[in-house]
Amino acid sequence: MKIKEQWSLPNLKEAARRTRSAVERVDHYAIPANTFDLGVGKTYHISTYGCQANQRDSETIAGILETIGFKPAEDLEHVDVIILNTCAIRQNAEEKVLGEIGNFKRLYRSNKDLVIGVCGCMSQEDSFVKTILEKYPQVRLLFGTHNIQDLPSMLYDAMVKHEKVIKIYSKEGEVYENLPVKRFEHHKAWVNIMYGCDKFCTYCIVPYTRGKQRSRYMSEILKEVRQLKEEGYKEITLLGQNVNAYGKDLEEPIDFATLLEEVAKIGIPRIRFMTSHPWDFTNEMVDVIAKYDNIMPFIHLPVQSGDDEILKRMGRRYSAESYMRLYKKIVDTIPNVAISTDIIVGFPNESDEAFENTLELVRQCQFDNAFTFIYSPRPGTPAAKMEDEIDEETKRQRLYRLNEVWNGYALEKNKAYIGKTVKVLVDGSSKRKEDVYSGYTETNKLVNFSGTNIEPGDLVDVYITDAKTFSLDGKAV
Ligand code: SF4
Repeated sequence: MKIKEQWSLPNLKEAARRTRSAVERVDHYAIPANTFDLGVGKTYHISTYGCQANQRDSETIAGILETIGFKPAEDLEHVDVIILNTCAIRQNAEEKVLGEIGNFKRLYRSNKDLVIGVCGCMSQEDSFVKTILEKYPQVRLLFGTHNIQDLPSMLYDAMVKHEKVIKIYSKEGEVYENLPVKRFEHHKAWVNIMYGCDKFCTYCIVPYTRGKQRSRYMSEILKEVRQLKEEGYKEITLLGQNVNAYGKDLEEPIDFATLLEEVAKIGIPRIRFMTSHPWDFTNEMVDVIAKYDNIMPFIHLPVQSGDDEILKRMGRRYSAESYMRLYKKIVDTIPNVAISTDIIVGFPNESDEAFENTLELVRQCQFDNAFTFIYSPRPGTPAAKMEDEIDEETKRQRLYRLNEVWNGYALEKNKAYIGKTVKVLVDGSSKRKEDVYSGYTETNKLVNFSGTNIEPGDLVDVYITDAKTFSLDGKAV
């Protein structure tokens, strides 16, 4: 592979560096004059992988593309720009992305002007970029999480100068305000409150791919939420890799409980937030959630393991006991709260006893929902270098057992809804049956229900008639 001088490639070591220098804040966005109409008469398609931060980034990418004239593609056969916004959390996400790039090769063969671009967390990984450069010549644009705002000029170089553009910066990052956004939904919106993460959990690639923790100013966040309310949005989700640490990095520190309360006062009907690290979850936060009816009684609280030794090696900085204390405080203080979690099985050298400790914690917490995974080593992270003698079959069996246990509790919790009437924010109707709608309860339960003349964004009372592990059935009342 010949590296060209104008390319900038990722470097994980650089990406892990943290300095005390102030975060640069850029609040004016200017499109280069030579790109004003770059996309007129042309179309784009975005494939988004991974977490809500990526979904929100895709809304920015779409916003920028539409500002310079592109329209969403109705048919991929004649599309001009394809962007794959990738996720680096697990190995299988990489395999899916490479599979999709492979599928697009056919389109590139018949249209050599097609720009296939790859961005997101995976582009920040040197091994992934090397694979793309060596094996996927159809990718003509690679950029990272720190330079989405430069998309017009990068596209200009790819489309007009016919260059291959590789621009990935490994740095702490800035805060950009006022970038164009095209919201993909009209009743629910994502609101970034911070970027990056400084926790460096030993298995996680995010602090390397998304830079240091950079909180937005509260005034900017409140301005965005007020505007969303004026535009009629019914639900917002405050987004950050660890929202509980919000504001700790600001010149005048402020905490998440304060931000949450100010957001609640604006009066948007539903407020959610993700993700919460148990370490930073304060009593003040619990009290604010309990105090405001428009802060939804649903908390995603990743535990990852119920074993203290594993938690220590994961760098999580809490114990199973302190997690349980927090869990109890939340359940005792917030009426009807639902709690979900993330659990990794098969962390390097996880013993049978350690796994049993995780099962025991799950039995005690009886989560409403859980996202469970077999540990996937991410190159460049400390855990990827840890010795691991546990075979894959054992890991698979543990995942199976864990799923059996939490699924049982989830079903029990859902059954408790039968015969009750709950408020559902409607997402839309089923593709197959027009009179079957779906939406979410305040506690984030998916509900499929029958009714008539219902629109996405309506808040509907639904009587629950049946419960499954992952959803409820009902009818509008
Ligand atoms: S807090 Fe979350 S995003 Fe940050 S390092 Fe840990 S797992 Fe990754």
